Formats: sequence, C-alpha cells, structure tokens
Amino acid sequence: MLRVILGVTGGISAYKATGVIRLLTEAGHSVKVVPTANALRFIGAATLEALSHNSVDPDLYTDVSEVKHVSLGQEADLVIVAPATASFLARYAAGIADDLLGNVLLSTEATVVVAPAMHSQMWNHSATQANVALLRSRGVLILEPDSGRLTGADTGIGRLPEPEAIVAAALAAKDFVASGALSKLAEKRILVTAGGTHEAIDTVRYIANRSSGKQGLAIARVAKAAGAEVTLIAANLQIDTSGAGTVIAVESAHELAEAVSKLIGDTDVFIMAAAVADYRVAEVSETKLKRALLGSEVDLRLIANPDILKQTVSQIRSSSSNCLTVGFAAETVETEAELIELAKAKLDSKNCDILLANNVSNGSVFGSDENQAIILNGSEGILRATGSKEHVAIQLLAAVAAKLS
Ligand code: C5P
Repeated sequence: MLRVILGVTGGISAYKATGVIRLLTEAGHSVKVVPTANALRFIGAATLEALSHNSVDPDLYTDVSEVKHVSLGQEADLVIVAPATASFLARYAAGIADDLLGNVLLSTEATVVVAPAMHSQMWNHSATQANVALLRSRGVLILEPDSGRLTGADTGIGRLPEPEAIVAAALAAKDFVASGALSKLAEKRILVTAGGTHEAIDTVRYIANRSSGKQGLAIARVAKAAGAEVTLIAANLQIDTSGAGTVIAVESAHELAEAVSKLIGDTDVFIMAAAVADYRVAEVSETKLKRALLGSEVDLRLIANPDILKQTVSQIRSSSSNCLTVGFAAETVETEAELIELAKAKLDSKNCDILLANNVSNGSVFGSDENQAIILNGSEGILRATGSKEHVAIQLLAAVAAKLS
C-alpha cells in the first residue's frame, strides 16, 4: 500500500482526476487529494472526499498545529499532479509555495509524476517548454499530453493522458525517479524502433509478425517524460503514439534500416525494440497475384534482410560515436536458464551494450500490456523486470541511464 498525494489543479480535465483516484484506491493505495483553489471551481471537494475516503482541505492555514504543509509531503510515497496547468508548471518550476500543493512539492522526497493538460499553444509556448525542461532535469517525470479534441472547437496536443496511463506510469516510476536514476536521460537524443515490419508479397499482401509495438512505445514515452529528445521509428503501429516524441512511420525492414541510418549519427542511445523480418520476398509482384493463375501450389522465394542492429552497432563501434545500443530478443524457451543462455549469446553476437530478452512462448507478451523480461547489462549482470510494459521500460531506461554516467 502506497501513500499517494494527488495534486489537482484548475483545468477543465480536473474531473478526470476521479478516474485516477478510483484506480489508485481500487489497487489498495491510500489517496490524499490536494486540490488548488482553482481546481475546486471545476470539481467539488465532496466528490474528491467521497472517492478518496479522505478529507480534502486545500487551505494552507487550517490545522496549522499539525504542520501539514510539510508532513504531507514528507509522509508521501508518491506524488501525482493531474491535471497540471501551465500556471502550475510555472509555479512549481519557480519553487513558489503559496498554497498547500506548492508546499507539499517542496517538502517531499517522493517520486513526483506530473500529467499536464492545456491548449496546444499553451503547451508549445517556450515558457511552458522551458518550465517542463527544468522540472525534468530535476528528476520530475512529466508525461507528454495526448493529442486529440480539446476544449472548444480545436484539436491538437494538450489532452490529459487517460487515467490508466497516468497511474501505470506513476506506479512504474515510483522506485526510479526519486533515486534520480532517470534524470540522466534529460536532453539525451534517444532513437527507439518499435512494432513489426511488413514485407510485401504483392500490392495487397504482406508477411508480418505479431509484435504490437507496445513495449517500444512505452520506452519512447517514458524517455520523453524523463526529458529525452525522442524519435520513434514506428513499424506499422496500430496504437496511439502520442507522447512518444517525433514519430516516423515505416513499413518494411528496408524503410526501417533507411530511417535508422539517417538518424543514428545524431543519437546518444539507440534502442532496437522492433521485430524486423529476417527475410523479404525476392520478387514483389506489382499487381495483385491471382489464384486462378497461380494454381494450387505457390513457391515464394525469400532472401535475407540485413541485420539492422548488428550493422548499426558495428558502424558505431568503428566510428568515434559513443552511442549506447540496446538490442531485444524474443525467444521461445521452457526455462529462464535457457533464456539467459540465448540472451548472452545474442548480446555477444550483436555486440550491443544492453540486451532485453523475453520468453514469447504460447503467445504471451505480444499484444499484452504486461511483460516479463530479463535485462543483460554486460558486465553488470542480469536484472529481472516483470510487470506493466511501462515498468519494464523504466527498468530498462534506468539501466541505460546507469551506463550513461
Ligand atoms: O537475431 P534476432 O532477430 O533474434 O535479434 C533480435 C534483435 O535484432 C532485435 O533488437 C531486432 O530489432 C534486431 N534485428 C534487426 N534486424 C533484423 C532482425 C533483427 O535489427 N533483420
């Protein structure tokens, strides 16, 4: 059970804080809501009290004898602010503590996860972006807003992420942010590939694989929330990629390789999570193949695709770049010992710095929101990461950050 403080600030999406409270209390955590005065113009204290089973009093000057302005922050295991307005981000960045939430934030040593929501222009304003960068450099995990319909007629970036995404990221971040493990990622250029490639057979058919891209997307989102400059090369992702930085969509291994080779020169960390087809069709038909003409048996000749990770790592090693490289391995094995053995061999053969391996037997992992992985960290040994894909992403990025220093 965690003691969670939920700061709520004065935006239209303050009502969505109810979803965050519900998810946290249902998971057995205690929630103390600390709204700003303006938040209470959007949502009633009675609603917040009923859902959190805790009193709500944003006033700094009540119960002064309990020194609650300091004790609340000191006793918290986790602080979440959702939604966070542009004005709140400015106050927090400047260390202004003229209300209870401001005091809690200056007195806590707990992990702080912030979920901003505002209009696109306000989010993109250089003042807001500077405040976000400053807070991230101090180790605050700031989620990127979602894109979509905003208040009024406009659409764009600025929506509050869904309560599920906020809670998953906050719980996953808990052990890592306070330790400063992720703050080394701030302003690092991180290139992540995710998804599965499609190799064309003809103009309408292709060879694909079962990778959903969710693990790579979670890595890109956490890296972005920790302040990295993230580019996500997305191979056929069927999921919303908001909050993951600059997204480049590709289809085939060939397109993915081209995108990597274009960007790798400006990259500090390269994370190759995509499932790349090992083979492509030798002769792709430029018209739809017809059954009537093909008959009852068809031979499809396949030729090997380049190993993008291996080639990229060897290019990095033979240059002056000190880009850190992370490979992935999806194996079907029966035991963890077998997985470790295969993963060690793969780390060696690809020559990357870190390797994340998982057992994909019986259809597990692909498409799921959960993962069970081992992370091989070269000389530093083996780490086990089990839980939500956000959790695994944070463990992987903490391992990356440790190698960066
Ligand atoms: O050898 P294997 O396919 O198991 O290695 C997996 C790792 O290699 C992953 O990081 C994957 O992204 C990468 N890979 C690649 N190019 C290929 C096949 C795999 O970069 N053609």
